[in-house]
Amino acid sequence: MVDLILRKRDGGRLSTEETNWIVQGYVKGSIPDYQIAAWLMAVFFKGMDGEETVDLVKSMIHSGDVIDLSGIRGIKVDKHSTGGVGDKTSIVLGPMVAAAGVPVPKMSGRGLGHTGGTLDKLESFSGFKIEQEMDRFVEIVNTHGLAICGQTSNLVPADKKLYALRDVTGTVENLSLIAGSIMSKKLASGADAIVLDVKTGAGAFMKTEADSFALARKMVEIGELMGKRTVAVVSQMEQPLGDTIGNAIEIKEAIATLKGEGPEDLMEVCLALGAQMLILGGKAEDTGSAKKILLEGIRSGAALDKLRQMVQAQGGDPSQVDHPDTLPGALFEEDLLADEHGFVSGLDAGMVGLAAMLLGAGRETKDSVIDLGAGIRLHAKLGAQVQPGTRLATLYANDREKLAAGKRMLDEAYTLSDTPPVIRELIIGEVHL
Ligand code: URA
Repeated sequence: MVDLILRKRDGGRLSTEETNWIVQGYVKGSIPDYQIAAWLMAVFFKGMDGEETVDLVKSMIHSGDVIDLSGIRGIKVDKHSTGGVGDKTSIVLGPMVAAAGVPVPKMSGRGLGHTGGTLDKLESFSGFKIEQEMDRFVEIVNTHGLAICGQTSNLVPADKKLYALRDVTGTVENLSLIAGSIMSKKLASGADAIVLDVKTGAGAFMKTEADSFALARKMVEIGELMGKRTVAVVSQMEQPLGDTIGNAIEIKEAIATLKGEGPEDLMEVCLALGAQMLILGGKAEDTGSAKKILLEGIRSGAALDKLRQMVQAQGGDPSQVDHPDTLPGALFEEDLLADEHGFVSGLDAGMVGLAAMLLGAGRETKDSVIDLGAGIRLHAKLGAQVQPGTRLATLYANDREKLAAGKRMLDEAYTLSDTPPVIRELIIGEVHL
């Protein structure tokens, strides 16, 4: 291991066997954390070439179970987001795409940080079970076209160990390591095709467009090399997506969006990603016709019905889809008001996420319990014109101290200026091979 660390430190490359030896040795416990940490830091500074990255992905996949979804009929398309604040796209997209006839077997992770992940959000429905036996998961997708469940504990165990170590050694933000981590989990999850939602900006892992496109290209190359059609959409995460940040509050927004009454930015991202899913799933020729099909699913109520069906099939209470006011709420609420004239010229997604976490909507540590009713509703986003007393946002919490802490942080997230800001395109581009 010392020789391999030295070689990588000095800019050399490792062979397939060497990379595999490191990954399997770490999972087995025969290589200690401190040596893996040194190797990760060497990779962080010297990078990995394309072949080394694919070697990493392959050995990570084979560190655990590879899911067999051949029991599901049709071309199964998975979607992955590199993560963002207020990102409830999976909960809107899954039903939209399933309504168009493309099966969506989605395995998600839980959220660490800002707000809960997709699974935490779905647990806002009373009784909703994110853990499903594989046979049942396949049956739900075959019957309803859609299921969203947790990853089995033995899916890419190498990533669990490596990610935990990267998190505490300053080695998360490396293209090969991120691409390896994400793509190994997607490829082990068994779908036929993958659509990647790569975010860029203050609320994303990748803060610059150049880095975000580089990550998107790397992941698309890996997917295609491994024999799965893969497409990436790069979108802006400068400010949060949609108007809500939290868990139950994001479910309420997802339901509104499935009724055609959601915020425009969320709909735009869902249509861009959904169109790629329909094309890969063989249900549309181009993005124009795909978007028409997706919008028809919303107009007819078929997409909302898919959400109802999934909630019921996974043990949740489907009546909450029609009565979102019965989802978890909060005891206390308070408005954040503007104190001067101007335009919202900055709404830092990372800080809004932090404010939501302080309200109780996210996890500070792995073991924190999420408050499903806590969250934020934004009334003023980038470009909004405000005056003293205009409501910028409403905060919700079940604890007065948390409410005050969240409000202080949210106040910091807003920047007002005399002139309107330049607002950039939400969808920046697509990456196809
Ligand atoms: N998400 C992952 O799953 N892995 C990374 O390395 C970064 C984001």
